[in-house]
Amino acid sequence: MASILSNPIEYLKGVGPLRAELLQKELGIFCFRDLLEHFPYRHVDRTKINLIREINAATEYIQVAGRVISVELLGDKRSRRLVAEVRDASGTLELVWFQGIHGIQKLVQVGGEFLVYGRVSFFQGSPQLTHPEIEILQGQGTARPEFLEPVYPTTEKLKVRGLGGRQLGKLTQTLLNMLKESDLPENLPQPARTYPDEETGEERGWLSRFEAYRQIHFPTQPVLFQQAVDRLKFEELFLAQVRLGLIKSKRHRFSHGVVFSQVGELFNGFYTHHLPFELTGAQKRVLKEIRRDTGSGRQMNRLLQGDVGSGKTMVALLAMLLAIDNGFQACLMAPTEILARQHYEGISALLKDLPLEVRLLTGSSRSKIRKEALGMAVEGRLHILIGTHAVLEEAVKFQRLGLAIVDEQHRFGVAQRARLWEKAEIPPHVLVMTATPIPRTLAMTAYGDLDYSVMDELPPGRQPIQTVHRYEDRRPQVMDFIRHEVAKGRQAYVIFPLIEESEKLDYEDLMKGYENIKAWFPEPKYWISMVHGRQSNDERDTNMQRFLSGDTQIMVATTVIEVGVNVPNATVMVIESSEKFGLSQLHQLRGRVGRGSEKSFCILLTSPRLGKEARERMSILTETNNGFKIAEKDLEIRGPGDIGGTRQSGLLNFKLANIVQDRYWLELARDRAAQLLDKDPDLATEENKALKAFLQSQHGKTAWSKIS
Ligand code: ADP
Ligand code: MG
Repeated sequence: MASILSNPIEYLKGVGPLRAELLQKELGIFCFRDLLEHFPYRHVDRTKINLIREINAATEYIQVAGRVISVELLGDKRSRRLVAEVRDASGTLELVWFQGIHGIQKLVQVGGEFLVYGRVSFFQGSPQLTHPEIEILQGQGTARPEFLEPVYPTTEKLKVRGLGGRQLGKLTQTLLNMLKESDLPENLPQPARTYPDEETGEERGWLSRFEAYRQIHFPTQPVLFQQAVDRLKFEELFLAQVRLGLIKSKRHRFSHGVVFSQVGELFNGFYTHHLPFELTGAQKRVLKEIRRDTGSGRQMNRLLQGDVGSGKTMVALLAMLLAIDNGFQACLMAPTEILARQHYEGISALLKDLPLEVRLLTGSSRSKIRKEALGMAVEGRLHILIGTHAVLEEAVKFQRLGLAIVDEQHRFGVAQRARLWEKAEIPPHVLVMTATPIPRTLAMTAYGDLDYSVMDELPPGRQPIQTVHRYEDRRPQVMDFIRHEVAKGRQAYVIFPLIEESEKLDYEDLMKGYENIKAWFPEPKYWISMVHGRQSNDERDTNMQRFLSGDTQIMVATTVIEVGVNVPNATVMVIESSEKFGLSQLHQLRGRVGRGSEKSFCILLTSPRLGKEARERMSILTETNNGFKIAEKDLEIRGPGDIGGTRQSGLLNFKLANIVQDRYWLELARDRAAQLLDKDPDLATEENKALKAFLQSQHGKTAWSKIS
């Protein structure tokens, strides 16, 4: 049976074809349901009449009733305005109009009694209403609404057609009047029907779905409005969690993966004889998770989040050995050439005593080497392929690819990852590693369908990086400090913001900075490397290599250095114009030091004129080294939209809920969804039939269905 809610909006009384077209174009409202889900962004309280005297600095909107005592046309052509004064028993208030003056003049005349509503602003200390709504007061009899009146998001084009923020409410009212309880049946299953009160913990029942929709549009009391909002937010989050849970449990039960059944000689031999250090507890735990996944017969699809320096590379290497022990090939993909090469060199060195073939493939690989690597991969003689995007190319084929690892995942998109999977008949296990910690709430929503591991422990013996914030006028002292560290045999980075590698201005800044540093650190006593995006690969590599080997003491670079680079002897990180970077990026850059046993320092240089947000970022970084805490703050400051960039942003497009502010509901939703799916993983039971049907009816309407 088709629901009335799927009726085209055109057929709602008061709409018609012309307005319907506009509603579709401007607001994406195609059917009754879309209108119902077009929520007001605020409500107007016209149930009360206030006294003018009650206005204070905190008053936003006010409704007063009074007599007009003066009307004046002021200003010349451009600043022409109509100013009226209205008086009630308690005081007077100014009303101002800049537009539509002609019509207002006719209506508003001295001596007339009016009901006035508008947003309060203060002009030279006295309150006024600009462009208030105004109607003639008809004695005591003026009908006042008994509801808070909704105001909706709208557009200029709709306003012109008589569908302003408040006029849309008339349509919503018409719609709500037509709906019956059975049009909006309950869709929360038993375990989700109640919720613990956030303060008292007392178990409470939700408003019914039907009531919630009425109250969110036309609340009869503020507390009911709040209950309606909470219920609908929870519903939204809960349904999302159930969907994610279904995807995940389906994958767990039905996906087909190659089996790594044994821990063999390579893994064990390396572990006992070549491992340069004891693994951390977190590394061991993640390896166990990987072993469990890859031995289960289903495809592993795991996200590994580890803070900078937590030792993800070693986990990757051991996982690859596990694959090879079971007769499979492995592939490790990094986002930049520098990183791919670094992995290649590090891993080759660690494996040098083992009978394994490891090759590097990047965009700049010479064709002979490339040909050889491709041949070995397809014939199965190659054990490990390390590379950049180049490994995704059509030409790269494996005989038995069993494991694909993506390092520093935030640079790769979902689609690119999927291409890795296609390189084998049975999709290889996938391990995605990211060094940009994602806050728990975001991970729960954006990655809730993946399995996910966290490495929140740094290898022992690391000293926390000491971070300070300095204004640029202290640069001489900072240079002295670098000199001091270099004298001890350490190395330093100086980073310049090149937001766009192509921007000429930024580039000039970098060159100026380089000359300046050269003046402080003259050859031949000191040597400086420089790395930026305008260099040829060779040039960049040489510079990088010289820093890695300790031939140069100072590395002047742009953010191409950002991820992954590992020079344990570097102990100073100076970041120029730090205010131009985001929190996560600063944390990443800082993570280039503190990788050895010596104490490291990060110096955030900024201009002395700092906005509030930038100041906040600097103070967060000086207070904590914990990437997960920083990510939470970043999410709070910037909101989810900017951060979830690696997945379809549709995943985070909740209509009402906000994963930062509604954390309480999100956690509850996740728990209740897990409880539900534990008992009934397919939603097959009678009591969950309604929920299942509801989810199916929503299928295809959200971004969810596009994700696998
Ligand atoms: P990230 O997680 O940022 O990719 P890396 O894998 O580059 O970190 O590791 C950072 C540094 O820590 C490397 O020099 C690595 O050799 C070292 N390391 C990794 N695991 C351990 C460990 N368990 N004990 C000591 N050092 C470790
Ligand atoms: Mg790394």
